[in-house]
Amino acid sequence: MFDVQSVRAAFPILAREVHGQPLVYFDNAATSQKPQRVLDAIAHYYTEINANVHRGVHTLSGEATDAYEGARARIGQWFGVTDPGEIILLRGATEGLNLVAQVLASQLTAGDEVLVGETEHHANIVPWQQLAATKGVIVTKIPVDADGMLSLTAAKALVRQGKTKVIAIGHVSNAIGAVNDMPGFIQLAHDIGAYSVVDGAQAAPHLRVNVPALGADFYAVSAHKMCGPTGIGVLFGRRELLETLPPWQGGGDMIDRVSFSGTTYNVLPWKFEAGTPNIADAIGFAAALDYLESIDFDGAMEHEAQIHAALIEAMRARPQIQILGHPSHWVSVCSFNVVGAHPTDVGTLLDQLGFAIRTGHHCAMPTMEHFGLSGTARASLAFYNTHDEVDRFMDALDRVIRMLA
Ligand code: PMP
Repeated sequence: MFDVQSVRAAFPILAREVHGQPLVYFDNAATSQKPQRVLDAIAHYYTEINANVHRGVHTLSGEATDAYEGARARIGQWFGVTDPGEIILLRGATEGLNLVAQVLASQLTAGDEVLVGETEHHANIVPWQQLAATKGVIVTKIPVDADGMLSLTAAKALVRQGKTKVIAIGHVSNAIGAVNDMPGFIQLAHDIGAYSVVDGAQAAPHLRVNVPALGADFYAVSAHKMCGPTGIGVLFGRRELLETLPPWQGGGDMIDRVSFSGTTYNVLPWKFEAGTPNIADAIGFAAALDYLESIDFDGAMEHEAQIHAALIEAMRARPQIQILGHPSHWVSVCSFNVVGAHPTDVGTLLDQLGFAIRTGHHCAMPTMEHFGLSGTARASLAFYNTHDEVDRFMDALDRVIRMLA
């Protein structure tokens, strides 16, 4: 049974104050808070195990390797992936998406088309634009509809067999919180023989994602949005693709044999993990997933959906507030503007009252451009937030609205 109060007790930071007020943390889409179990796992690694992985004959190196590879297996298990070769540990979703774009460059030629969702985070736009500059590929947007969902109908009209080579989509948009029709977009990609690339950074914290069941060729995730540490994430890729694609960065660990007469590469997944990996944070990521399992993740998500619905309802009841989008499948986020007020002023005043929200373009400038906005205020919830916090937030927002009137 999910119990929000005992869950909150596991997150030391939730007990702190900001400007003399109890902290209400509603900036979870930017990064989530970390439970003690994750902090302990990282401290334990550095206190008891720390050594470099894969190369050592000594005990600590063996233990570090076991812990790191064990973390890989745990991370894969959460997402339904059993082949360690398909689980590439990286710095985060940004690095995963850059890796995909750069290695897929070998498969693309000038004039090939990459379809990218209009509501993508910049991490799923800019790497493709860089390919446009270096390879001459054409980047075309899949438009967002009035509700904030990417339009599958429009994508079907845009694809060109033999020309559209990649469809790159965010599972959940970070500026709106819309859950896009991933099975539909992935099917479309497969129907026309294009690669499907999914940015799962905002989906993984809120949905049970089974990567093989979704069937995407590539799926990128960040640990720090799901109670894990910063600087670690995972890129899932299908083995048969990863086997044929060239390696990305060069260096230690990714090689088999190096000689000035020629170099051969390591097997998966290490072929894509050059250099000393982020061992401690991979272990922290696995601890975060153990934690999420231990609290009844499905119950936690039910609670989160309830407080999100309560927040949206309360926001909609206020004529001074305009909410960005109203998708049919919506998680965590409420992006909004107070009519006549700048989002930065709203965020700054809320901070004075102890409420942490985000303001600005949310690394999704094309989304803002589409809706004719320079930015929004964004409250984004996690399962450790409460109904009481939502009520106090609305009281604080009413005060802010009066102050800015
Ligand atoms: N994609 C989306 C949808 C995001 O929300 C974010 C983080 N704001 C990223 C990618 C980038 O993730 P990271 O900063 O962990 O690389």
